Amino acid sequence: MTAVVVEKPHLLSIRPAPAEAPGAGEVLVRVRRAGICGSDLHIFHGTNPFAKYPRVIGHEFAGEIAAVGPGVAGFSLGDRVVVDPVVACGHCYPCRIGRPNVCANLEVMGVHRDGGFRDTLAVPAVNAIPVGDLPFEVAAMAEPFSIAANVLERTGGAHADDTVLIYGAGMIGLTVLLAARLEGARCIVTDVDDARLARAAELGAARVLNARRESVAEAMKTENDGLGPSLVIEAAGAPGLVDEAVKLASPAGRIGLLGFTPEPTPIVQQEIVRKELTIAGSRLNRHLLPRVVVWFKTRRIDPRGLVTQVFPAADAQAAFDLIQRDPGSTMKVQLDFA
Ligand code: MN
Ligand code: ZN
Repeated sequence: MTAVVVEKPHLLSIRPAPAEAPGAGEVLVRVRRAGICGSDLHIFHGTNPFAKYPRVIGHEFAGEIAAVGPGVAGFSLGDRVVVDPVVACGHCYPCRIGRPNVCANLEVMGVHRDGGFRDTLAVPAVNAIPVGDLPFEVAAMAEPFSIAANVLERTGGAHADDTVLIYGAGMIGLTVLLAARLEGARCIVTDVDDARLARAAELGAARVLNARRESVAEAMKTENDGLGPSLVIEAAGAPGLVDEAVKLASPAGRIGLLGFTPEPTPIVQQEIVRKELTIAGSRLNRHLLPRVVVWFKTRRIDPRGLVTQVFPAADAQAAFDLIQRDPGSTMKVQLDFA
């Protein structure tokens, strides 16, 4: 049995993992495929404020049911599932109003508790989302797309009449692009990396802007009858962008924030009030993996083009090295636990 463990910042090890038995209300998942996320790299580098060490990382993983704990119904051995890594208490105020992703006692698998980069783990049955016959490679992409589903949920959804400006053409920006296009919204993506922007164009961005060479503010003057984007999604994590978004958004616009930057940034409140903007933070997802699974099953979204490399789990260090050495060559790198 194998587990990928960050022993302490900058030290990754492949360790034998003890076999777990599912407790009451839990299922045992035999992990088959898992995606490496930027936040796994942050834990590796010691820059995730929530991580404790040693930690089995990994929060994007799919596999099959290997055992069913007491009191769990509805699962059979061998059922394919993707795991929602958000574990919430169910009792606190956000949990009571249906916002478990900001639970006061939140535990994210792979961050606050041991995660899915291991052969088997027991998870709460409510976190195991059936995926039918989806390939594991596809099912393991449900969590990254749930980030997009959540920010669109928080901002009223992207509709045919929307002009959407997406800051950032990394993995999260691209998942937002694919989800925002589902109802036909016009999507504009900006980044500072041409290779990433080329990918965004291939994936259906109506317009891409390299912010190093072009003024995003200038470009927005021709969008949405000159009003600017009706929906702005900040998926680049740069501090000044929320201020720019407030300036560029159309009247009645919505702004969704995904970047986790701690730096303070000035915002002009008058613009927010004058245009009656809605600004929403978005963290993780609230029970949205089933929605993403439907997108994949109906092929409205095919995430396979975003998986650029697959490494055997035992070679996790090589996968991390590649992402750090040549980030332009990678989008989603997966680990295979076959
Ligand atoms: Mn992730
Ligand atoms: Zn809670």
